[in-house]
Amino acid sequence: MLATKPDVGQYELVVGMEVHAQALTKSKMFCRCATDYQGSPPNTRVCPVCLGMPGALPVINRAAVEATIKTGLALNCTIADTAVFARKNYTYPDLPKGYQISQYELPLCINGFLEIDMEDGSTKRVRIRRVHLEEDTGRSVHEGGYSYIDLNRAGAPLMEIVTEADIHSPEEAYAYLTKLRATLRAIGVNSGDMEKGALRCEPNISIRTHEQKAQGEYGTKVEVKNLNSLRSVRSAIAYELERQATVLTSGGSVEQVNMGWDEEKQRTVVQRSKEDAHDYRYFPEPDLPPLQVSREEVAQIAATLPELPGARRDRYEREWGLRRVEANVLTSESQVAAYYEQGVAAYGTGDGKPQRMATWLTGELFRLLYADGEGQDLRQIATVKVQPGQLAALLKLVDDKVINPNTAKRVLETMYATGDDAAAIVEREGLAMVSDTSVIDQSIAEIFAANANELERYRGGEEKLFGFFMGQVMRATKGKADPAAAKARLEELIKG
Ligand SMILES: [Zn+2]
Repeated sequence: MLATKPDVGQYELVVGMEVHAQALTKSKMFCRCATDYQGSPPNTRVCPVCLGMPGALPVINRAAVEATIKTGLALNCTIADTAVFARKNYTYPDLPKGYQISQYELPLCINGFLEIDMEDGSTKRVRIRRVHLEEDTGRSVHEGGYSYIDLNRAGAPLMEIVTEADIHSPEEAYAYLTKLRATLRAIGVNSGDMEKGALRCEPNISIRTHEQKAQGEYGTKVEVKNLNSLRSVRSAIAYELERQATVLTSGGSVEQVNMGWDEEKQRTVVQRSKEDAHDYRYFPEPDLPPLQVSREEVAQIAATLPELPGARRDRYEREWGLRRVEANVLTSESQVAAYYEQGVAAYGTGDGKPQRMATWLTGELFRLLYADGEGQDLRQIATVKVQPGQLAALLKLVDDKVINPNTAKRVLETMYATGDDAAAIVEREGLAMVSDTSVIDQSIAEIFAANANELERYRGGEEKLFGFFMGQVMRATKGKADPAAAKARLEELIKG
């Protein structure tokens, strides 16, 4: 289909993102049913309200409203004084009432923004059009030629977060979603688990020529559904950019359809649309009063907001002189930030120590976490055997020249496996650094004797052999020689 690559450069990619994030509450949106239905037998976490029985009346879940206000505040939105729940009418097997309670004309939060980091180090604002609250649908399960319905999820609280069409590349979409997920996790309103469906992304994707852009016109948009990883969102957008450019370049027109993403074939596929003309006949929900939000309540919720990832990142750079790349990684998950800050508290803040702690944490400790198969989820840092204070103690041994950095990496591996203290491992395995010059001099003398030929060539002007001798010294001391001391002694003695 994409046999000839189109010139995508003549088009501008325009993406708006819709994200459905399940609010972390104990009970569902309008009833007392528990939201911990993952793994429960089908249709066991239900009641007359979420089953849509006639006469059952909904009651608003206060915790879901607070989570949404919190989200709105974290996304720099204006919180409405009055929000109105509305019925969105459509017929589908997973929707027992025949309508979904959502918010339409008067959502809870509007006009916000989220700052994302661009590759060149700059930041960009993606405007948030609205954040509203609604109930989730049930799930259809298709097996062995039959279709089943599981309504455990029906009525779970969902926050829908909608951006303006401000995203112009697959990488920007990825950066936006990464930042959004980190923010939602940091404020504790969503688990961020995309593979469990707790965060679902639906990009609206279109392209337009630069002339259309000048005229303020947009191309026909395609919505891609059922994306279950950040990577697949990025891939789907990149694929659509090329597909739509191919269609337009060859004189065709893009059709307005819903697409799915085929992970195996790495391509979008047309899905049969639920209904062609979207006429949901929204009207205000007669069973629920308008939701009044007082300014006092908003202020109270604002006071509970923790430091957000962007602010924390800026603080690390400003106060501790961290590089942007590490500051971003450290603030991507609150568990990582907590580990890091405990590490710095134990290690100290002077002499570039926060940067050194950051380098070791994101370099060596994360490497072990990845090798352990846990690296996909950096939140696992909270469960590693090496405590932040133990990592700090290891770095102090390096600073005090008890061990050299290479030995420290090996010690950290043992710490990771056993949870033992660095000092105990150094003692037990005899790893303390050799900076005793008499020991080093002795090694050098032996090496010179064994490599008389090389020594002669060096003295004859082949200076690059210095590295060879340095390697021999480190090997002779089993890597424990203080590199600076060894180099100084070698420089002295090699002159002859
Ligand atoms: Zn229920």
